[in-house]
Amino acid sequence: MRRLFKYALTLIIFLLSYNMENAMAQSSLPVVPKPLMADVGCEKLKIADSINVFIDPSFNLNEAQSILSIYKVLNGLFFNDVRYHIYNRNDEKVDEGDIIMKNNSNLPEEGYKLSVSRKGIVIEASSEVGLFYAFQTLFLSSSPEDKSCIPFMEVADQPRFEYRGFMLDVSRYFLPKEDVFKIIDCMSLLKLNKLHLHLTDDNGWRIEIKKYPALTSVGAWRVNRNNLAFPDRRNSVKGEPTPIGGFYTQEEIREIVNYAQQRYVEIIPEIDMPGHSNAALAAYPELACPSVDKQIGVVPGMGQGSGSIILCAGNEKVFKFLEDVIDEVAVLFPSKYIHIGGDEAWKDYWKKCPRCAQRMKEENILHIEELQSYFMRRISTYVKSKGKNVMGWDELTNGTLPDDVIIFGWQGMGNAALKAAAQGHRFVLTPARLLYLIRYQGPQWFEPLTYFGNNTLKDVYMYEPVQSGWDKKYESLLMGVQASMWTEFCNIPHDVYYQVFPRLVALAEVAWSQKELKDWNSFVDRLDNVLLHLSAKGINYSEAMFNIQHKAVAENGKIKVDLNCERPDVEIRYTTDGMEPDASSSLYREPLYVDSSTQIRCATYKNGVKKGETLKLDVDWNLATGKEIFSENPADKVLTNGIRGSKKQSDFEWTEWYSKDDVSFIVDLGKKTNIKKIGLGCLTHYAMGVNKPKYIVVKLSSDGKKYSTSVKKEFSDKEIFKVGNFIEDIFLDIPDGKNVRYVQIVYAYPGDCPQDHIKPNQQSRCRFDELIIK
Ligand SMILES: [Zn+2]
Repeated sequence: MRRLFKYALTLIIFLLSYNMENAMAQSSLPVVPKPLMADVGCEKLKIADSINVFIDPSFNLNEAQSILSIYKVLNGLFFNDVRYHIYNRNDEKVDEGDIIMKNNSNLPEEGYKLSVSRKGIVIEASSEVGLFYAFQTLFLSSSPEDKSCIPFMEVADQPRFEYRGFMLDVSRYFLPKEDVFKIIDCMSLLKLNKLHLHLTDDNGWRIEIKKYPALTSVGAWRVNRNNLAFPDRRNSVKGEPTPIGGFYTQEEIREIVNYAQQRYVEIIPEIDMPGHSNAALAAYPELACPSVDKQIGVVPGMGQGSGSIILCAGNEKVFKFLEDVIDEVAVLFPSKYIHIGGDEAWKDYWKKCPRCAQRMKEENILHIEELQSYFMRRISTYVKSKGKNVMGWDELTNGTLPDDVIIFGWQGMGNAALKAAAQGHRFVLTPARLLYLIRYQGPQWFEPLTYFGNNTLKDVYMYEPVQSGWDKKYESLLMGVQASMWTEFCNIPHDVYYQVFPRLVALAEVAWSQKELKDWNSFVDRLDNVLLHLSAKGINYSEAMFNIQHKAVAENGKIKVDLNCERPDVEIRYTTDGMEPDASSSLYREPLYVDSSTQIRCATYKNGVKKGETLKLDVDWNLATGKEIFSENPADKVLTNGIRGSKKQSDFEWTEWYSKDDVSFIVDLGKKTNIKKIGLGCLTHYAMGVNKPKYIVVKLSSDGKKYSTSVKKEFSDKEIFKVGNFIEDIFLDIPDGKNVRYVQIVYAYPGDCPQDHIKPNQQSRCRFDELIIK
């Protein structure tokens, strides 16, 4: 198979170099993903209102016409009059603007050759999907202002990976059918070919199953907590109305599948099990372990621990239920794959369940993880009996893997999937650390609230799945890559598009283009044209790529401020007097050094036009600012950089302590200094388990050896576990003031989140952003 691919590649290069004898001007085609080979001319072809289309008789005529009509809809403005002809190799005489679709059986299935010249548009492909991708390239090559004008070009193209995926979580947020269509349109424009639909989870069951009507009459609906962020939402109380949600009827599923098929997108359904199943269990609670002692409902947020309520592995009815569901799913989706989840199945109730215990005894299962293996293997066998291949998340590698399962590597860098590859399993990489689109895509102070750190556009673009240390066979088992969009923080379709674009455009190039062709500078140029096309279609996207990320650190008593924007084609302009910058403000060339309170204002400009948001950086000077910190935790350096964090805990301005032991750090003021007051900036984010410490102690020393004066401030549980997301400066007074050089701060673990907390029993963490000494 690989040899064939290499052969095709050589052939394409040969054919293309032959065509290139007509030496065309070198410039970049404004499309993503970047084609294997492309040369662009200076002239343009104007597509006429009335054209002839010649179709090779080896193509399916209906399919070829459907491709053309999709292209026509994309463009929306030309060839009102299309006359179809059967292509005859002996008669190549065509008029300017005519289109020929030729069969070239030497090309790989999804590959194509495309020529636009005075002779018209000639497309070669070995299959209809190749034709389709050639039209997508044509479409993106045009400018959104005049889509009937296409530059002269010679293109030869084919994908790097067979699996070019996007996962959409429609459980946490139910995306209406019309918006799923739009997502499919965008995917196909970017030559992405697998839409992995995460149809079920704790937060909603989204697919009609005729045999189990309560899955959608009950399981698709939850209480309205949309005024709160996802982590702040408490579970329902008995009898509360459940107006939020929705589901796709089987008729709508067929519509979505057809729509996707016409655009060469395969929809892979995921029915998650045995975990992430509260929505199903809300409808059929008898499928949970009898050991469950909590109310089961469709969860509006993180579930207050109900994530550990999962399908019982000891109950035969559970297997009957899942087999019935698979029966209907297998018929609805023509995909050769069914994804059966398997992620984050917490075993708390399994461990206490007599049925699960009985199952383990009967099956000679010694470890609880192997009970999940039993569960997944049994369902896999059933899925395979339906003629489908099984897919699952990388937690399946914790136990014995089902035969032939395809593993999705997601944790960290997705490396758990390599454990499966070592056993000969195929795999897809969707590392959370880079390809989870729920994460922030730029400087967090400008972004809507979400989880975790940053996966910027450039992070996604620079991702290279194949690692140098890999065993040789891994590469041949790697099917491809996938961006995954979890929708916890989405309440309207706009929220989904904002997180997905433009990062999905970057993923498309990772998935399709050869890694040697990747070039960040060229990508952002081409991206701008793609984004114009997307916005012409009413798709909104983030402009976080134009925002400035700062880094401020103490250096020799000053604060060194680095400003960085990942777009290489903008300049950063700044002021230091608190005034709004403009295109004529100072140009940022190198780090700024600050030694007193300073208000930095900066923004990016392209051709004199402001692009991003204005970053407002206030360096507030106090006695500790710019001083050296001694600590085990390197992140503690932000404590003396003079810059305050936002209410987002992962914005890089907060240091974090996640330890149950007392922790401490020392600051050296450089010389004996009279101090009266010591403060610590402290973040509370109740729903994320970020809490004030149990107590803070300040110790003082003149020589750094003997610490004497000790001041302590203690907090009650009520103060520590206060609901909300806010910043407090905790001050401790030094009685009569003291003349000292060294200050040590000690603080204590707040305690685990209490039972009535939104995250019961979870370990707390502390976050501090500034040491303030007066
Ligand atoms: Zn059980």
